[in-house]
Amino acid sequence: MKTYKIAAIPGDGIGTEVIAAGVEALQALAKREGAFAFKVDHFDWGSAYYKKHGRMMPADGRDQIRHHDAILFGSAGAPDVPDHITLWGLRLAICQPFDQYANVRPTRVLPGITSPLRKVEAKELDWVIVRENSEGEYAGVGGRVHQGSPLEAATDVSVFTRAGVERIMRFAFHLAQSRPRKLLTVVTKSNAQRHAMVMWDEIATEISAEFKDVNWDKMLVDAMTMRMVMRPETIDTVVATNLHADILSDLAAALAGSLGIAPTANLNPEKVYPSMFEPIHGSAFDIMGKGIANPIGTFWSAVMMLEHLGEVSAAGRLMNAIERVTSDARFHTPDLGGKARTAEVTAAVIDAIHGANA
Ligand code: NAD
Ligand code: MN
Repeated sequence: MKTYKIAAIPGDGIGTEVIAAGVEALQALAKREGAFAFKVDHFDWGSAYYKKHGRMMPADGRDQIRHHDAILFGSAGAPDVPDHITLWGLRLAICQPFDQYANVRPTRVLPGITSPLRKVEAKELDWVIVRENSEGEYAGVGGRVHQGSPLEAATDVSVFTRAGVERIMRFAFHLAQSRPRKLLTVVTKSNAQRHAMVMWDEIATEISAEFKDVNWDKMLVDAMTMRMVMRPETIDTVVATNLHADILSDLAAALAGSLGIAPTANLNPEKVYPSMFEPIHGSAFDIMGKGIANPIGTFWSAVMMLEHLGEVSAAGRLMNAIERVTSDARFHTPDLGGKARTAEVTAAVIDAIHGANA
C-alpha cells in the first residue's frame, strides 16, 4: 500500500487547531479509502520555537522536509513577534527555496453558505486565483539605511524576471484551459507601473498565442476589485502578481462567506520539491485557544493536496464531505454566523467521510 509522507507544520495561533483537525480528517479518509496511508511527521516550528532558539525553524529545517510528499501548513504569526520575522522565517523560507511559484487559490460559495453579495448564486462565483509566488513585490530585495536619523530611507524593490512571468502565465493559461469556461483575466497595473507591469502584459500576450482556445482579458487591479463585487459572474481564472493576488484573494474569500473557508496550494508544478498546502487565513489572535476556528479552509487545502498527489477519488470524497457539512447550518462556526466548534465540524466531516448522514 502506498504511504504518503506528510510534513505537518501547524505553526502559531489557530494554525495548531486547524491542522490537528485536518490531520484527523485525512487519517479518517485514508482509513475509509483503504488504498493508501499517511505518515504524518509533526514539526513544532513557529513563534514558540523562535522564542527558544532565536529562529523560526532549525538551520537544516528544509532538509528535514525535503523528501516528504507534501507539506500541510497552518499559520505563522504571533502577537509578540514582528510579522516580517515570522513570515520570512518560516512560510517564505519554505515557499521560495522550494520554488513553489504557483499559488493556487480557488473560491466558491459552498452549499449552505451565504455570500455577503446576497444576490450571487453559487454557480456565479467559482473562481481560481493564481498568485505568482516566487518574486515580484515580495522578492525581498531592498534595504534600509540611516535608521532613526532624519535621513532614513527604505526601499522594497519589485523584481520580475522573464522566466518567472512566462512560467506563471503558462501555468495560468493551462489551468484556465482545463476549466469549463476557458476564461482568464490577467490582472495588471501597467498604467502606473510602467516597467515590470508592462513586461508582464507583453508576456501575457505572447503566452496567449499558445492557448488559442482560452478567452482572456486584462484588468487593472483597482478595477478588478470592483468587478469582483459588481460582476462576479464574469470571472473564472485569474492570474496576478504576488502582492495583487495576496489582496484580491482575501477579498475573494470574504465574498465567498468567510476567510475561514479559503484554501490554497503553493505548488512546485515540476515536483522537484514538495508542494505546500494551507488555509489562507493567519493565526487569528482574536479567537485562538477558544476552539471555534473554522477548519473548512484546512480541509479544502487537504483536498488540493490529495489532487496534487493524484488521489483524485479520495479528494472528491473529502470535498463531498465538506459540502455536506457546510449545507447544514448546525455545523457553521461563528465566522459563518453559527455556534459550532472546531471539534464538532471535524467530527461531522469525518462522519460524512464514512458515509453517515449521507
Ligand atoms: P487572520 O487571518 O489571522 O485573521 C483575520 C480575521 O479573520 C480575524 O478576525 C480572524 O478571527 C478571522 N479568521 C481567520 N481565520 C479564521 C478561521 N479559520 N475561523 C474563523 N475566523 C477566522 O489575519 P490577521 O489578523 O491579519 O493576521 C494575524 C496573524 O497571522 C499575523 O501575525 C499575520 O502575519 C499572520 N498571518 C499568517 C499567514 C500565514 O502564515 N499564511 C497568513 C495571514 C496572516
Ligand atoms: Mn495574505
